[in-house]
Amino acid sequence: MKRYPVPLVPGPTTVPEAVLDAGRYDFGSGDIEAEFFYQYARVAEKLRSIIRTRHPIAVMSGEAMVVLWGALKSTLSPGDRVLSVATGVFGYGIAEMARTLTSEVKVVGFEYDEAADAEKVAAAIEAFRPKMVTMVHVETPSGVVNPVAAVGEAVRAFGVPLFYVDAVAGAGGAELATDDWGIDLCLLGSQKCFSAPPGLGMVAVSERAWAQIDRTGYQGYDALAPFRQALDRRWFPYTPAWHAIAGLEAACDRILSLGLDSVIRTHAEVAAHTRRRLGEMGLSLFPRRAADSAPTVTAVRVPERMSWADLDRRLRAEGVVMGGSIGPLAGKVFRIGHMGAQAHVATVDAGLDALAKIIA
Ligand SMILES: *Cc1c(COP(=O)(O)O)cnc(C)c1O
Repeated sequence: MKRYPVPLVPGPTTVPEAVLDAGRYDFGSGDIEAEFFYQYARVAEKLRSIIRTRHPIAVMSGEAMVVLWGALKSTLSPGDRVLSVATGVFGYGIAEMARTLTSEVKVVGFEYDEAADAEKVAAAIEAFRPKMVTMVHVETPSGVVNPVAAVGEAVRAFGVPLFYVDAVAGAGGAELATDDWGIDLCLLGSQKCFSAPPGLGMVAVSERAWAQIDRTGYQGYDALAPFRQALDRRWFPYTPAWHAIAGLEAACDRILSLGLDSVIRTHAEVAAHTRRRLGEMGLSLFPRRAADSAPTVTAVRVPERMSWADLDRRLRAEGVVMGGSIGPLAGKVFRIGHMGAQAHVATVDAGLDALAKIIA
């Protein structure tokens, strides 16, 4: 596999050696080894401190989509009302996913280059009285961070039973307070700010979400229910990916040893630095307000006289990989992923120096 010395893709992010080493594995089946259960419990505890929650956490094998789907299927039944806050590919996508489970999905939609307006969301909640509100913390394809705390207040004010938040691209890099913000289903992946390899989806589940999961009774590979007592019963619904969970522990240790507040501050600083340099180069950020630009990924408009394919090829020739975008933004927007182990001014500067040379 060709390696690029300057990794700036907004996930999967570069994996530090210590995380790779921790994931080296040549022994036995996790579900019959006591050490696995101790490790799983430790990983859950470390994840809880990173996303600031006291809720139990399920660690599932699969891409982050496994928990995005699993949390919907485990809590929704036909006829349930879902209000989906959508500002980008994942927000609108989650609404489509919910529609496969209930016809009662209402979208509070915004443009892809803006964050959600919490007051509009509150008005929609008041009018629609949903059972669940869904939203995305950081919209990775468009580099927008959404006001989860403010929407959480509206969720609480109107007594919405379930608040579902895709925090895959924000957790461990952007401010996130799962319990203070009233998040019932906080969805995570291993390969963004954690900088562990892809392949795990994690979800923190509140007490009222567990109660709903029991009522819904969904069964399937992505069902959350078996994880409620998996540790107590030492019974997992499938062979756990022990190597991946071991890597995730090392990834959590990286964040916690640097200090969560310091890691979050670094992401904000690196993002501000990135925006400043892009401005100096005359490039336009994609989010219309700099305040809506995520601390973990910066989305930029592809310069008019260039195609993304051309820019990508020339960046790669300089050893730099950034990300294109997907959905309606494909070809129009590219992204600098300064998240997790990539949140370093030196890494970003190496990428931006190459970019400056190419567009000069
Ligand atoms: C990456 C990402 C996902 C999906 O993660 P996969 O591991 O690719 O399934 C979901 N939501 C957001 C916001 C993401 O950035």
